[in-house]
Amino acid sequence: MYDIAVIGSGPAGASAALFSAKAGKKTLLIDNNKGMTRRALLKNFYGIMEINGPDVVDLGEKQATTLGAELVRDKAIDIQKNGEAFQIKTESGQYEARYVILATGAITDLAEKIGVQTKPATEPRIKTILVVDMNGKTNIDGIWAAGTCAGASVHAIITAGDGAKVAINIISEINGERYVDHDVLKPTT
Ligand SMILES: Cc1cc2nc3c(=O)[nH]c(=O)nc-3n(C[C@H](O)[C@H](O)[C@H](O)COP(=O)(O)OP(=O)(O)OC[C@H]3O[C@@H](n4cnc5c(N)ncnc54)[C@H](O)[C@@H]3O)c2cc1C
Repeated sequence: MYDIAVIGSGPAGASAALFSAKAGKKTLLIDNNKGMTRRALLKNFYGIMEINGPDVVDLGEKQATTLGAELVRDKAIDIQKNGEAFQIKTESGQYEARYVILATGAITDLAEKIGVQTKPATEPRIKTILVVDMNGKTNIDGIWAAGTCAGASVHAIITAGDGAKVAINIISEINGERYVDHDVLKPTT
């Protein structure tokens, strides 16, 4: 069983997955490659002068998998609670996870199907978002949401940060104490 399954590997989902995997949590990333970031040219991503959307998404997936997340290229079609775990059904498989992060961008059909509460969006061209609390929790215990689908923004830097935030909140809940992920530069002599 996975500790955390992330649905969607755009900036929000891959960012959540890399934090989760780096924290030692068994992490699954399910994505069907239909994200809006693949159509963007980013000139406003902090620390990078300019990058094509597809490059940032590919790099994000590479970073998450290098740190230990497992990436499955598939569409999640159902999520049901079964005891302590969620059964995640995809078009060609089935997976089990303790926590789920929905990071599905502008797409909210899966969330609506499984009973996640939604509301009208305020960002241009986004119709519906999921109702989440300040930590990223939805109305279904164990299902969290991040990025554009959670109403964070339609800006990549913000959705990436939101994915990281939600992952850190889940990791902290699992660990029972606040989690911080810092790597420190070796001092130069
Ligand atoms: C044309 C265009 C230009 C843009 N330009 C900029 C810009 O210049 N600067 C900027 O900051 N932002 C820009 N954006 C916005 C930016 O791409 C988004 O705000 C943000 O990156 C969304 O990130 P996300 O991870 O929430 O969603 P996405 O990047 O959309 O990722 C969601 C992922 O979830 C997957 N998914 C959805 N449902 C399922 C499912 N059931 N099963 C499996 N996978 C699923 C999708 O395939 C996708 O890969 C632009 C967007 C567009 C469309």
